[in-house]
Amino acid sequence: KPMEGRITDIGPRHYAEFLPPIIKKNKGKWLWHEIIEPGILMHKAESGDEVYTVRCGSPRLLSTETIKEICEIADEYCGGYVRFTTRNNVEFMVDSLDKARKLKEDLNSRKHPGGSYKFPVGGTGAGITNIVHTQGWVHCHTPATDASGTVKVVMDELFEDFQKMRLPAQLRISMACCLNMCGAVHCSDIAILGYHRKPPIIDHEWLDNLCEIPLAVAACPTGAIRPTKTKITTESGEEKEVKTVAIKQERCMFCGNCYTMCPCLPLADKEGDGIVIMAGGKLSNCITPPKFSKVIVAFIPNETPRWPQLAQTMRKLVDTYAKHARKYERFGDWAERIGWERFFELCELEFSHHLIDDFRDPAYYTWRHTTQFKF
Ligand code: SF4
Ligand code: SF4
Repeated sequence: KPMEGRITDIGPRHYAEFLPPIIKKNKGKWLWHEIIEPGILMHKAESGDEVYTVRCGSPRLLSTETIKEICEIADEYCGGYVRFTTRNNVEFMVDSLDKARKLKEDLNSRKHPGGSYKFPVGGTGAGITNIVHTQGWVHCHTPATDASGTVKVVMDELFEDFQKMRLPAQLRISMACCLNMCGAVHCSDIAILGYHRKPPIIDHEWLDNLCEIPLAVAACPTGAIRPTKTKITTESGEEKEVKTVAIKQERCMFCGNCYTMCPCLPLADKEGDGIVIMAGGKLSNCITPPKFSKVIVAFIPNETPRWPQLAQTMRKLVDTYAKHARKYERFGDWAERIGWERFFELCELEFSHHLIDDFRDPAYYTWRHTTQFKF
């Protein structure tokens, strides 16, 4: 419970201060909502009030100029109120359908100098909404692929499904650039996951100077790291024995956790790093219980700058789902109904031993569970 009257400069101000008056007035008293057309939602309250929301996509990493423009739009149409969703969409709320349609037209007409949309309206209902994603090469230290680059490529490929609602149900795509997954992609209809395939490289010369060896050892979830000593020849040609660590290669799952503790254990690798595609997860409890995603493509290399194999595979997955699933059937429900074996055939995906998802080791049980393939 927040402390009454507490004044603090720690953290953000209470969200209720920023609610539009109509939302504040009807809080907890909303009756139902519907999607009027792609990009426009209507919420009806007990009081009879109606709120029309226009949703548009954002590239997530925004310039201050773009944020200023968003604020100007909110000032012009929405009394200065605007909200961002967890999927990096921008939502503008107005009080009539006419105003919502006018705003939609305005947003869709704003273009970059190259002609691409600045604020494309869509992301509602049985379509693809913005891809939730992590930091990638822009910011983090353990990525196996880029986030902004891969997301841009996939959204360019699937853009029509952002603007339309032609799919059987909503399709949530998420992206995390390493398997530590600060993006938590493991319950998405389709997940793009950065994956390292090689253990860290050990910089014996600097390790004892830069790292606390017990911390690096303790950071490994699989117990693959142990302290050791080794002989090295320094850059100046001097031979000496140094304290360092050894990594048991067959225990390493390339998670990069040790690198978060010790900069002398980097694992980024041009050939080893790439992308895994997982599918079939969902958070919703609707029709069937929530599920975890399963690996369906074991590796796609980092083909910068446009990741053609990734884009092609995503296109094939979405088109096959659109063609074969029943109305309201989520991606994983469809794959389970027809059988994962048939799913691999229809999507023309190669099945390999990497995809048998019944991994068990008493040393570190994971959340994975069997898919019971019957090939
Ligand atoms: Fe960093 Fe991994 Fe999160 Fe990417 S997914 S931003 S590499 S922790
Ligand atoms: Fe352990 Fe992960 Fe480092 Fe491998 S990458 S040694 S599993 S912490």
